[in-house]
Amino acid sequence: MTIFNWGRNFELGHVSHYPEEWAQVQQLVSNQTCRVIGGAHSFWYPDCSIPTNISLAELPIHMEVDSLTMKIRVEGNPTLGTLAIWADQQGLALPYLPSSLNFSLAGALQTWTHGSGIQAASLGAQVTDIEMITPTGPLSSSGNGISPDVLLGTVGTIGVVKSVELQLEKQFLVKQTMYREIDFNDVIARPELFRNLGYSVSVFLDVRNGRTKGVLVKDKETGHLSTSAHDSSQADGISREGFFPGGSSASNHSTFSDGLQLSHLSLPHFVHGCLPEPGSELQVETFFSVPSARIFLQALCSIDSRFLEIISTVEIRYSGGDNILLGGSQGDSVVCIHLALRPRYQDLPEFLSLLTSMTIANQGRPHLGKLFGYSDISDWLRFFPRFSEYLELKKELDPKERLPRLG
Ligand SMILES: Cc1cc2nc3c(=O)[nH]c(=O)nc-3n(C[C@H](O)[C@H](O)[C@H](O)COP(=O)(O)OP(=O)(O)OC[C@H]3O[C@@H](n4cnc5c(N)ncnc54)[C@H](O)[C@@H]3O)c2cc1C
Repeated sequence: MTIFNWGRNFELGHVSHYPEEWAQVQQLVSNQTCRVIGGAHSFWYPDCSIPTNISLAELPIHMEVDSLTMKIRVEGNPTLGTLAIWADQQGLALPYLPSSLNFSLAGALQTWTHGSGIQAASLGAQVTDIEMITPTGPLSSSGNGISPDVLLGTVGTIGVVKSVELQLEKQFLVKQTMYREIDFNDVIARPELFRNLGYSVSVFLDVRNGRTKGVLVKDKETGHLSTSAHDSSQADGISREGFFPGGSSASNHSTFSDGLQLSHLSLPHFVHGCLPEPGSELQVETFFSVPSARIFLQALCSIDSRFLEIISTVEIRYSGGDNILLGGSQGDSVVCIHLALRPRYQDLPEFLSLLTSMTIANQGRPHLGKLFGYSDISDWLRFFPRFSEYLELKKELDPKERLPRLG
């Protein structure tokens, strides 16, 4: 079967293998050059020339929850939607979700998929155990005495995820509010100021016309996270009222009463402000420290108008730090700057190269799984402090390079 990316404008190749047992997966990755495909929503794959694609769609999915510890063990590769609905039925939830639930769990974990919120980093930060089929044999973080961080964020280059254990939390409700009248220059000058205003915050910008499309704030209806977020905003000397005068006058204010189903499933994140235009499916994402984010945004606003035309929406998200091998926020909170692009393909290479130099100049880090123009291995060593560790691991687990290669 031929597979395409999410926008159906780029052919990823043909899936030639649909194993039905894990032993077949082991056989494949040990003996031939191959690549595993999840939901095919990534904007970028390492080493796209690999001809043999494996889908895990025919493998059974098994989910089991320990209600005492609120941990779930998932074997197989369900979509995040399947997992979220199943968890909801058990009275549990993933703390944060990305903007689409069509991704496969393993694809999301291997690409540092994330929502927005400084209380959490990526979905991978919830992983407490992971089991992989590598070209040299099976490997598990608990069985082999290694931290799960080491096996995450490696974009399918060291092994195939077979099962994971994730920490969930009690099911909760989300109140979403969209604030619209926010001064563009204020956002550019202090993009970090919004990060404490809710459990999850996203700022949507139209950089071409110098206006803020809106600030989406999500609060947990009950529970401690929302309260502590308010407290920390006070600690910064700011309050939501200060930002959004007349707070309750915000347009498009909705409170949902049906928990996960309404807030996370029926109203995925970017419905409110960042719904891609038809064809606007390309995304570049980069992660910056607070001071660098400001400088990068200022530089972005003053690029040539020919390139500004390419940018459909800039979304600012926030993330806490983690230690995932090739993750976006190693150890530090980061400001995530996401660019949804219009498909002006003729200008894209030049645009990506400009963004690359702007990102490097500001110590930014790319999001693997998204579009970018980095190829020099010395850049990778700079972006990811643990990249040398990754190279060692690749050599050990995949000495014959059966799986794709980075850099
Ligand atoms: C509409 C849209 C919205 C998006 N929103 C967000 C967002 O809110 N936040 C965000 O962070 N990202 C977002 N993304 C990007 C998305 O997170 C990534 O593309 C994610 O990887 C998609 O998962 P997938 O299952 O489609 O992965 P795929 O594209 O199938 O695979 C991604 C990578 O993981 C590897 N892989 C897949 N399965 C396995 C496995 N079992 N074992 C080992 N490696 C594996 C693949 O080889 C590949 O390198 C969005 C993308 C789209 C199209």
